[in-house]
This record gives sequence, C-alpha cells and structure tokens, in this order.
Amino acid sequence: QEEEQGTEIDVQNLRSPICCILGHVDSGKTTLLDQIRGTDVQGGEAGGITQQIGATYFPADNIKERTKELRADAKLKVPGLLVIDTPGHQSFTNLRSRGSGLCDIAVLVVDIMHGLEPQTIESLNLLKMRNTEFIIALNKVDRLYGWKVFPNAPIQQSLKQQSDNVQSEFKWRLTDIITQFKEQGLNTELYYKNKEMGETYSIVPTSAVTGEGIPDLLLLLLKWAQKTMVEKLTFKDELQSTVLEVKVIEGLGTTIDVVLVNGVLRVGDQIVVCGLEGPIVTVVRALLTPHPMKELRVKGKYMKHKEIKAAQFFKVAAPGLKHAIAGTALYVVENLDDLEDVKEVVMEDMKSIMCRVDKS
Ligand code: GDP
Repeated sequence: QEEEQGTEIDVQNLRSPICCILGHVDSGKTTLLDQIRGTDVQGGEAGGITQQIGATYFPADNIKERTKELRADAKLKVPGLLVIDTPGHQSFTNLRSRGSGLCDIAVLVVDIMHGLEPQTIESLNLLKMRNTEFIIALNKVDRLYGWKVFPNAPIQQSLKQQSDNVQSEFKWRLTDIITQFKEQGLNTELYYKNKEMGETYSIVPTSAVTGEGIPDLLLLLLKWAQKTMVEKLTFKDELQSTVLEVKVIEGLGTTIDVVLVNGVLRVGDQIVVCGLEGPIVTVVRALLTPHPMKELRVKGKYMKHKEIKAAQFFKVAAPGLKHAIAGTALYVVENLDDLEDVKEVVMEDMKSIMCRVDKS
C-alpha cells in the first residue's frame, strides 16, 4: 500500500472508471445497483424497466462518505465511478460482439445460494474474451440461515459478529463456489485474503438488500481500477464514445444515450453516427444528464451542459437521429475536411453490425 503513494499520478487528469454489472438473472444485479445508488428503481418502476439500459455516476465524494468505515479516503484519485447497467438489453448484443472494451472493470454477481449458473459462465466468458478486469460480488449473504443484519456494514465487521453456524455455512458455500470457479479455469479468493490480485480474482461477499459488503465493493472497484489502469484512465482528447440507446423523448424528438469513454463532447459539435440508412451527420443541440446520483432512466428534469468530459453517460439531442443504431460508435468531425473519412469509418462499423444481423 505504501508504494501507491510513491507513484506519481496526475490526479487532475484521470477520468472515472466505467464499470458494468454482469451475472445470472435474479442474482441481484438490479438490487445491487439500487442499493449503491440509494434509490429503488426495481421496486418503484416495475418489470420491463429493469431490462432497460441505465447508468449511474457516483462522484468520488459520495464513495468516500460511504466507505469511511474502511478508513481509506485519502487514496481515491479518480473523480468518480460510472456504473453502466447493460445486461439483457438488445443493444448490448452489439456491444458484446463489438468487444469495444467499453467497460474498464466489471462486477460479476453470483448468488451465494446458487453458485455459478449458466449466465454467470456466459458473462465470465465475455469478460475473458474482452480481457476485462472484474471483481466477484458474492451476493445474498443475508440469506444464510440465521444471518444477523448489520446494515451497510463492511463485510468483515458483519461476518465476525455472525454465529458459528452462519460462519460455517458461509465457509462451505464459499469453498464450493471457489471450486466452481476453478473448474472454469479461474483462481478466486476473498478479497481481504487475496495477496495476488491480478492473478487471483477477488470475491466480495455482499447483500444487495442490507447493504453489507457494499462499502468494500465500491472501495475495491476504485482502488483496483486506479492502481492497475492509470494509463487507460488517463484522460485523452481523442473522442471515444458509444451509443447505448436510441429513444424518443417528448419535446426532444429522437435522442441517443451515449457513453463517453474519452474526450470531450460539446454543444454545436458536428457528429456522425451509424444509421439504418447510412451515416447520420448532424449537430449536437443539447447535452443532458440526470441529476447526480440518479439514473438516466429515472424520470425527472435533465440538466443541460455546454460540454461534457469523459467518462460520462448522457443524452444527446440532435436533429435527424431517428434511424440511429444502438451499440455503435459516435464520432466528432473535427474539421470539415475529415467528414468523408469519418463517414467511411462509420460505414465500416455498420457493415460489421449488419453482417451479424444477417447471420443471426
Ligand atoms: P437481477 O435479475 O440480477 O437484476 O436480480 P434482481 O436485482 O432483480 O434480484 C432478484 C431477486 O433477488 C429480487 O427479489 C431481489 O429482491 C432479490 N435479491 C437481490 N439481492 C438480494 C440480496 O442480497 N439478499 C436477498 N435476500 N435478496 C436479494
């Protein structure tokens, strides 16, 4: 830990890591996101909505506050964490096959009562394919028989206070799941016992319902990202951006929800995105975000921005987006001479997507 302090990092120039949550259906992905967000989308806005794409930005100050019991505040160097909630959505298929490396880091959620399930393994293969770093959330620990709840407590603190029976059930289930991971070719270990992060994947026991282990998960995500990905997280001017969703919004017309991985996007920028009928060339009319700590899919007034710096998730309003395709890249035309080149790149993107549509 001391060595971290010796490393020269230009803190001003680090962008937020982008994090995805993956796992089997019902393992608790939505509840986990709700828990860290402090809202209740899953309960409040039933059914289909949890299938939609959303993203939440957590400012570092908020994370500091929530992890202060772990006494780690001085070490946060990134401005925040952008959590994207992509699973199950149609455009995620495009994102998957693009292997676009959209996420810097992922949380793989495993239900402690069920162990590895088909979609856990599917997610695992995706992560391996993309070479994405990830942390395992061993969720639903509160379902162990006789579990005593210590709301929002760091997990070791909570585990220590459980009865012998609970502790032994926890141990055998954990051991079982470590074995299942081994069968998938992965070494895993409880995060606080893991001395070889990078070789061995870390497991954070959590309860998305009681909040136990959530401080550990947040802190580990940030620390791990900023320790191992300084170069990747160093802000670059070159724009890197993906369209996650195309939506009609009353009063705004067709809008696109965009993840900006790197660079800056400004109102008035000329952009090119993939469209069903060819590249769409248009001009950014508005850049909109929900209020901090809320998710884009939660209703409410948008905040308007003149420019937005990566990493962020936001809505772009611009004329002519009706046939835009989700899961493809967005480009900015720096000067008019480049327009034809950019259109060509977009066409290439489109071809690869169309090929996949044909095949499936
Ligand atoms: P998703 O399909 O992975 O998004 O799973 P959900 O978040 O929808 O959760 C599926 C069900 O498991 C819901 O009924 C949740 O309330 C429940 N659940 C999720 N996390 C936990 C947890 O940590 N503890 C308990 N007891 N239930 C949980």
